Amino acid sequence: MASVLPLGQILCGREISAGNIGARGLPLRVRVSFIGSSRRKSSKYDHYFASSNVDLESAEEKIQRLTATVERLKARIAELEGLVPSTRSRVEESMEQQPTPKQLLKSITMNVPVLKPEPSQKLGEIDRLPSIVWPSPSDEIPFWKRGRLRHEVAGLGSTKDVENDRNPLYIIHVTAEMVPLAKVGGLGDVVTGLSRACIDRGHKVEIMIPFYECIPGEQIKGFSPGESYSSYHKGNWISVQVYRGKIAGASVLLVQPKNQFFKGSSIYGGSYDELEAYLFFSRACLEWMQVTNNHPDIIHAHEWHTGAVSMLYWDMYHHLSLKKPRLVLTIHNMEHYGECRMEQLNMCGLEGSTYRTSDKAVDDRTIGHNPERLSLLKGGIVYSNAVTTVSPSYVNETLCSGWLSSTLMKHRSKYFGILNGIDTELWNPETDPYLPVGFSATDLMGKQACKQYLQRGLGLEPDELPTQRKTYQECKRSPLIVCITRLVAQKGIHLIRHAMYHVDQMDGQFVLLGTSRDPRVKGEFEHHATKVCLLCSEELAHLLYAAADIVLVPSMFEPCGLTQMIGMRYGAIPVVRKTGGLADTVFDVEHSKAIDANGFVFEGIDERSLNSALDRALQQFREKPHHWQALVSKVMLLDNSWNKSAREYVGVYNSVRV
Ligand code: ADP
Repeated sequence: MASVLPLGQILCGREISAGNIGARGLPLRVRVSFIGSSRRKSSKYDHYFASSNVDLESAEEKIQRLTATVERLKARIAELEGLVPSTRSRVEESMEQQPTPKQLLKSITMNVPVLKPEPSQKLGEIDRLPSIVWPSPSDEIPFWKRGRLRHEVAGLGSTKDVENDRNPLYIIHVTAEMVPLAKVGGLGDVVTGLSRACIDRGHKVEIMIPFYECIPGEQIKGFSPGESYSSYHKGNWISVQVYRGKIAGASVLLVQPKNQFFKGSSIYGGSYDELEAYLFFSRACLEWMQVTNNHPDIIHAHEWHTGAVSMLYWDMYHHLSLKKPRLVLTIHNMEHYGECRMEQLNMCGLEGSTYRTSDKAVDDRTIGHNPERLSLLKGGIVYSNAVTTVSPSYVNETLCSGWLSSTLMKHRSKYFGILNGIDTELWNPETDPYLPVGFSATDLMGKQACKQYLQRGLGLEPDELPTQRKTYQECKRSPLIVCITRLVAQKGIHLIRHAMYHVDQMDGQFVLLGTSRDPRVKGEFEHHATKVCLLCSEELAHLLYAAADIVLVPSMFEPCGLTQMIGMRYGAIPVVRKTGGLADTVFDVEHSKAIDANGFVFEGIDERSLNSALDRALQQFREKPHHWQALVSKVMLLDNSWNKSAREYVGVYNSVRV
C-alpha cells in the first residue's frame, strides 16, 4: 500500500484517513482499437508507424485547400488593387497564368514542375509590390521590431473548416510552455497548436501554465482574475491565484503561487529551485480541479516538469474527489528526465521513498548509489494511462537506446508516436504580420522581396532583381541558408559551425538565429564573420524562414523538429540529418520516391556527410532554378498541419477516457 500522506494531515479541507488513501490506482493497460484509418490489418498499431502517403482522401482535401488558396489570392488582388490601382490588370494577367489546383496537385504527386517556368516574368514584378521601407543595419530600431502587432497575444480566432468529432472531450493541458506566452522551444508550439486543433474539432480545451513573472498579463485577451485557493508545499499551504485569458482561441489558466516560484526575467533559470517549483505547480493544478469541481476527461501533461501529475493523481487525488480524468503524458525530449531526490518529492505531499523501486520512479542508473535518485519523467511514464512522443521514429529510437528504454519497453502497449504538426494559421506566409509582404506557393514574388528585405537589414549583399533585360537565371543570386535553433549539443553545434565556413567558401550567405545559456558557446559564435544573431526573436524567426532558400537542421538527435516543417511552409528547402522526426518529414530528392521528395538528407555526424547534402542543394539552387522553384512551391503545399496529428491524439484520448 502506498502511504502518500501522513495520516491526519489535512488535504483540501479533509483529514486523510486510512479509508481514503488505501488502494493505489495503478495505471490501466491501454488498448487502442481505433486511431485514424489503417488499411492494413497486420497490427492494430501499424498506422502509428506507417509513413503517410497521398491517398485519395488527402488528395480531395488538397484540392479543397488549393481552391481556398485561389480564393484567398483573389482577395489579395482586391487588396492590391486598393494599394496600387494601376497594377490591377497585370496582376490579374499573372493570376490567369496560375495552374489550377488539380495541376498543382499533379505537380506534388508527380514531382514535375507545372508552375509556369517563367520566373523572370513573375519575379520581375517585384517593383509593383506595396511600397517597402527597406531596412539597413544602421537603423535605430532593428528591422524585425518595426511596430508589428503581436497578433498572437491579441488572439487568433478559429479559421479551420474541420468537422466536429463525435463525443467531445474536456481536455486540460498542464504544461511549462505555450506559445506565445512562454516559449523556449517546440514544446510551446505543440501545446498551443494541438489545443487549437482540438478546439476546432469541437473539444473543450484549457491550458494551465505557471504565471511566470515575465508574462505580460495585461496583453492577454480577456485577462481577469479567477479562483484563489491554497496548495500544499513542504508542510504549508501556499496561497495561489489563478488568472484567466484567451490565447489564440484557447482558454488559458495562469497559476500564480504567492511565494518566490516563477519569479525572474525569463521562463527558465530564475533564482528559485525549478524542480520544487514544477512539483508545486503539478499539485496546484490538481488542487484547482478538486476545489473548483472541474473534472476533465483527460489531463494531458508534458515533459518531466509535470511528470508528477499522474503520480499525484493516482496516489492522492483519485482517492479524494477526482475520479473521472485519465492521464496522458507527452515526452518531447527524453534528454530531460527530471532528476529528483526523495525528500524533494516529499515536498509535494508524496512519500518519496515509496517510489524508489525499479517498477516505479527510481532512476535505474543510481540503484545502489547513495543517495538513489528518482526521475519524474519515469514516474510519469509508469503512472500515465497513455504516453506519447512526437514522432514514430523517435519511438523506435527511444525503445532501443537510453536508460529509459527498458521502462518504455515494459509499457510498450501504451506508448505511441504521433508526429507534431505546425499551426498553419500562426505560420502562414500569406498573412504573416511580421513579413513586409506576403507570398504563396503560386506567387513567390513576395518571397523574393522578403529575402531582399532581410539581406538589406542584416547588411548582406542583396540579390539582383530581374528586369526587362535581365532574366531571373542571369541575375546574381546568393543562396541564403538559415539555421534557427537552441545552441546545444543535440542540435549539432559542430556541424552548424562547419556549415558557416563552408557556405562562406561556396559564396553563399548563412544566418544563424540561436540562443545559448553557455558563455563558451556564445563566444564561439559571436566572433564569426558571417551573420549570427544570438537572441530569441519570434519576429526575426518569421522573417528568416520567409527569406531563406535553405533551412539547415543538422541535429544529432531530434524527437520531431519543427524548424524543417515551418521552413517548408515558407518555401525554404530543408537540409537535415536523418534522425527522429527529421527522418519522418524530410525525404531526399535523389534517394526517395518522387512523390515524397522534399529536401536533402545526410546520415553521418561528420562534416563530409553534411557537405554531401549541402553541396547538392547549392548546386541545384544555382544550376536548376526551374526545378528549385518547383520544389519550393511543392514543399509549401505539403500538409504538415495539426489536422492529422490532432485526430491521432483524439484517438489516444478516446482509448483511455472513462
Ligand atoms: P526544440 O524544441 O528542440 O528547441 P524544435 O525544432 O522542435 O526544437 O522547435 C524549435 C522552435 O523554437 C521553432 O518554433 C523555432 O522557430 C523556435 N526557435 C528556436 N530558436 C529560436 C530563436 N533563437 N529565436 C526564435 N525562435 C526560435
